Amino acid sequence: MRVAVTGASGYVAGWVVRELLARGHHVCGTVRDPSREDKVGHLRALADELPGTLELFSADLMKPGSFREAFAGCEVVLHTASPFTLSGGDPEKDLVEPALEGTRNALADASATESVRRVVLTSSVAAVFGDAKECQTRGGLLDESHWNETSRLDHMPYPYSKTVAEREAWRIAEAQDQWDLVVLNPGFVMGPSLSTRVDGTSVEYMINMATGKMPAMWDFETPWVDVREVAFAHAEATERSEASGRHILSCGEVPMLTVGRWIAEDHPGRFKPPTRRIPKWVAYLAAPLFGFTFEYVRVNVGFEVRMDHGKSERELGVTYRPLRETVNDHLEQLVRDGLIP
Ligand code: NAP
Repeated sequence: MRVAVTGASGYVAGWVVRELLARGHHVCGTVRDPSREDKVGHLRALADELPGTLELFSADLMKPGSFREAFAGCEVVLHTASPFTLSGGDPEKDLVEPALEGTRNALADASATESVRRVVLTSSVAAVFGDAKECQTRGGLLDESHWNETSRLDHMPYPYSKTVAEREAWRIAEAQDQWDLVVLNPGFVMGPSLSTRVDGTSVEYMINMATGKMPAMWDFETPWVDVREVAFAHAEATERSEASGRHILSCGEVPMLTVGRWIAEDHPGRFKPPTRRIPKWVAYLAAPLFGFTFEYVRVNVGFEVRMDHGKSERELGVTYRPLRETVNDHLEQLVRDGLIP
């Protein structure tokens, strides 16, 4: 199949491109600047090794019509490009505008391309829930029927950007009948990166976990998923004509401190993971120093999150590896690539 992947240079998209090339597809990847070897060199190397073929195109989320050339002749468009950052900047300009306008622009270009029959959107569990407390108020188990109703521009702006973008994608999909929409909602993605970029949030987070930048943590748990399972789900959503709706991708919901403890146990003395617990009352005092608000601590620290990921197993055939294996594989890649000592 001829398949387009927006944001092919990203951490998640690297594995998506790899999976599609391994299955023999022709991948039309979009990147902001295809001449940046540091962002696309690993993709070209994959195309040299694997059965599929790769073409790279220049496209920007904020430019209407930018994806037309890349989408031409494609049956499926995988829209992964969207900024993922949890800190700093202008939330409207840096997160919401590119997520929302980018979705409108990419989907308008899909509609303008006759060959496109399906759009696969990389959304997030952040569009399913915003605050950890939401799980409690919704019966203790979140599934694909739930939507994030608590994030705002001034409270959890990244989850807000993913929520408004996914809602807009459903609105656009329902207003036409040329293509159908399949949405993937991954948890926090971890696992080895195919590039040596360190500016992605997942990679940066693992580096911080390993190098002592987070020596202690408050009780916070989140759904996690291996980047290789995320890529597999994208490829299945591309190929399975019967796929439909949203799909939570999570290997389980695990506290950050548990991940820190595993790193300490599996690599004694080698890394500096968070192992000390910050009580909630201290979190209230410390939060502003790390850019978190009182409200963030109140509705996120100390709450259990549980998500039902059964649909992704039943309908996309995903098999989740244990998170501990994912963490160890990620650390091994970071060491091998000289990104952590
Ligand atoms: P990433 O490595 O930062 O990749 C983001 C991609 O979006 C990059 O290719 C980036 O292009 C592209 N992009 C950003 N702004 C753009 C713009 N204005 N025009 C064109 N492209 C633009 O992040 P990631 O972790 O792989 O995330 C990929 C997708 O997965 C995102 O939709 C994210 O929300 C979603 N997701 C990620 C996670 C996670 O834990 N990582 C979890 C759930 C969902 P450049 O290479 O040019 O910067």
